[in-house]
Amino acid sequence: MSVSNNISRVRERIELAAMRAGRQPEDIELVAVSKMQSLEKMYEAKECGLRVFGENKVQELLDKYDKIQDVKWHFIGHLQTNKVKYIIDKVEMIHSLDRIGLVEEIDKRAKQINRIMPVLIQINIGREETKSGIYEEDVENFISGLEKYQNILVSGIMTIPPPSDNKSEIRGYFRRVKKIFDDLKQYKYKNFDIKYLSMGMTNDFEIAIEEGANIIRVGTGIFGQRNYL
Ligand SMILES: *Cc1c(COP(=O)(O)O)cnc(C)c1O
Repeated sequence: MSVSNNISRVRERIELAAMRAGRQPEDIELVAVSKMQSLEKMYEAKECGLRVFGENKVQELLDKYDKIQDVKWHFIGHLQTNKVKYIIDKVEMIHSLDRIGLVEEIDKRAKQINRIMPVLIQINIGREETKSGIYEEDVENFISGLEKYQNILVSGIMTIPPPSDNKSEIRGYFRRVKKIFDDLKQYKYKNFDIKYLSMGMTNDFEIAIEEGANIIRVGTGIFGQRNYL
């Protein structure tokens, strides 16, 4: 299957899921997760109208950044503090806020270039040791430490549920994260503008849409299997 066929199929799946949920497909932003995918495939995706790419490694993002114009980049992976400076002027959003040390560094680097960086708080909803993110019970405490950082804009939540073939289990995780997202809207901090719920990947984005996601991150469903280099 070509990238263009894959994208048509993904768009159809988004429409069907949105319809089932009584939502508008235009309200769901599709981030094309291009990690470990070739530039050729990314050009093809751009031809089909996709304009937002998601990368999870700083070096790979930097390698690709100059080679594809007029697109936006979201950083979706674990971010080392000492690498923030390389991407601060390049990405539109960081989905993986998971510790105060990272907040401090993003805030500092953003201030230096006079910008305000939109960030999503990553929730480790399955409490997996292999994944980053804040545990459900620590969210409140984490949030209360964010108010003083003026060069970040806390824009919502991101999550990756534990791998599972059980749809209702996945749905249960998404529901819990949606609740955290809704609760976030109560905070009236100046640097909060809670809009985005980033959840759902190739195998579960329909469920995520039904449960309220408005950013989905799709890799293999668009580009096919990743080439592990
Ligand atoms: C790889 C990745 C995706 C995309 O996964 P697919 O199953 O290929 O759609 C989405 N989000 C994050 C954070 C990822 O690392």
